[in-house]
Amino acid sequence: MIICDSCNREISENAYVCDFCGKVTIAGKKMGLGPKDYSILLGIFGLLISLFIPLITWGLSGVGYKQAKENSNNKGLAINTVAIIISIISMIYYLYQYFKR
Ligand SMILES: [Zn+2]
Repeated sequence: MIICDSCNREISENAYVCDFCGKVTIAGKKMGLGPKDYSILLGIFGLLISLFIPLITWGLSGVGYKQAKENSNNKGLAINTVAIIISIISMIYYLYQYFKR
């Protein structure tokens, strides 16, 4: 038995959906029943452009971070967090270069 993270009642670990509140379980998310999760893809794109267009990374990885959180996707959370941090650093660098002149 596992505990539903939405209503905290006991449900079967094989259930894809909670019997009580209807929320998709971790097993269900693994079967692709959960909310859309492009977080890894968004994180990779975010990382690739974070050094060049940090503002777009904020948008992409912001959405990626949200999707990863909804799906308890730790890899997605990690990659989007890194992308956001790099984009903040490169944004500061661009601003520094701009005001230095
Ligand atoms: Zn539930």
